[in-house]
Formats: sequence, C-alpha cells, structure tokens
Amino acid sequence: VIETRSERKSFGQTEVLKGVDLKVHKGEVVAVIGPSGSGKTTMIRTLNAMESIDAGEVLYKGAPVGYKVSSAGLHKPVPDKQMARTRERIGMVFQQFNLFPHKTVLENVAFAPRHLGSALDADVRANALAQLRKVGMDAHADKYPHQLSGGQQQRVAIARALAMSPDVMLFDEPTSALDPELVDEVLQVMTELASEGLTMVVVTHEMRFAREVADWVVFMDQGMVVEEGPAAGIFDHPQRERTQRFLTRVM
Ligand code: ATP
Repeated sequence: VIETRSERKSFGQTEVLKGVDLKVHKGEVVAVIGPSGSGKTTMIRTLNAMESIDAGEVLYKGAPVGYKVSSAGLHKPVPDKQMARTRERIGMVFQQFNLFPHKTVLENVAFAPRHLGSALDADVRANALAQLRKVGMDAHADKYPHQLSGGQQQRVAIARALAMSPDVMLFDEPTSALDPELVDEVLQVMTELASEGLTMVVVTHEMRFAREVADWVVFMDQGMVVEEGPAAGIFDHPQRERTQRFLTRVM
C-alpha cells in the first residue's frame, strides 16, 4: 500500500537517505529499527510528504506522494488537492504528541474530521468518543492535555489519528519521549491495533515490541536499508555484521 523506490534526501551537504526501498503491504506491521541518526525519522516523514525527497519515488497505492517523476527525471509537485486526500488516508503519531493545548481531549480527536466537514457534529462526537474508548481515554474526554500524563496524551494522539479512519498509521518513535513506566500503556494500544489488522509503520527503539508485534523488520544504518525480513529472522539470525553489532548493543 506504501512503497519507496530509491528515495534520496539530503540536508545541505549531508545525504541522510541514500536510496531507500521500502514496501509496506496492507495489514502488515513494519518496524523500522537502527542507530540514532540512521535516517529513520526522515524516512517515515517522507511517506506522507511531511519531508520532501530529492530523488526516487514514494508511492501510495501506486500513486506518487509529494513529487512525481516526469519522463525527463525531474520532480514535479503533486497537486495540493490530491496530496491532501492522500494525507487523510495516512495517519501519523509523533514522538512529541503534538496535541492542541487549548482544546479538550474530545475536541482534539474531533478536530480533523470536523475540519473536513465530512459528517454531522453528533456523528463526529460519537466517533471521537469511540476512538477514545479504544485507547482507554473516554473517561478523560473533557480534560486538557496538560492535565494528562505523557502516556495518556500519546493515547489521545493515537485516537486523533484513528478518527480519520486511515488506511495506514505511521508512528515515529511514539514512546521515546515517555517516562519508562508509561511506555507499556502506549505499546499495549499499538499491539491491539496491530492485532485488529491495521497497517502500521513504526520507527521504534522498543526491540521487544518490534520482535513480538512486527511482521516485518527493517534495519537502517547510515541512510540505507541494511537488512530486512520477518522479525524472527532479523532478531534470531541477523545476516549482516552491522545488524548483529546493533542488536548486541541494544538487546
Ligand atoms: P533518531 O533515532 O536519533 O531519531 P533517526 O534514525 O530517526 O535518528 P533522523 O532523525 O532521520 O535519524 O536524522 C538523520 C540525520 O539527518 C541526522 O544526522 C540529523 O541530524 C539529520 N537531520 C534530520 N533532520 C534535519 C533537518 N531538518 N535539517 C538538517 N539535518 C537534519
């Protein structure tokens, strides 16, 4: 459902993505692991064009995301309308929850669907509450973000993304900003979503989660996919020396 082909990206003189090929199939949970600075965050941000690319392609259901490559090899921007439609189908959860501070939990979750004007207010509210129930936060609907723990805020951020009924959810290190005792409640919600068959791409430092929940694990280092495969293969029988070294360090 999402695919990158030889995507490249530089910041100034530094090439951060050096030809990344990634395939995400419907219903699959893909974990992206690798050392700090290997380009994981940059890569996941290109999947919904939050980050532009310099070369290569990003495709969502076969259609270009962000930039189209013309026959001359030049990159032309995809029209805004088409881009907005694609973005609606791809939910994103960030390391720093990014909730609207002056909106209640319920307003945060209802905001995007209401913004679209795609449904009646009562429906939007009911849907928002249903999503909050899913992440165990319906009892906190009328609170403001600052009244919640980091783990609770992140669960609300997940509910907000789910409220758009996305085809794919992108998670960029969703537990990295959390105190250790709050990590599990977020991973639990994500594990449940995975078991319901949601298509997910997760950049994570949580190796246990990657091992137990991901169908496919992608190991990135220095802007490249060094090795990928089913979780059991990557964790129990890594083929590349760089993967082995990384796993010994973090496990
Ligand atoms: P981490 O696990 O620490 O988040 P990462 O694998 O996600 O690392 P990226 O955040 O993608 O790695 O960063 C890759 C490299 O690109 C780093 O060297 C980083 O400093 C650089 N970088 C990222 N964003 C920018 C930016 N907006 N401008 C300049 N350099 C950037």
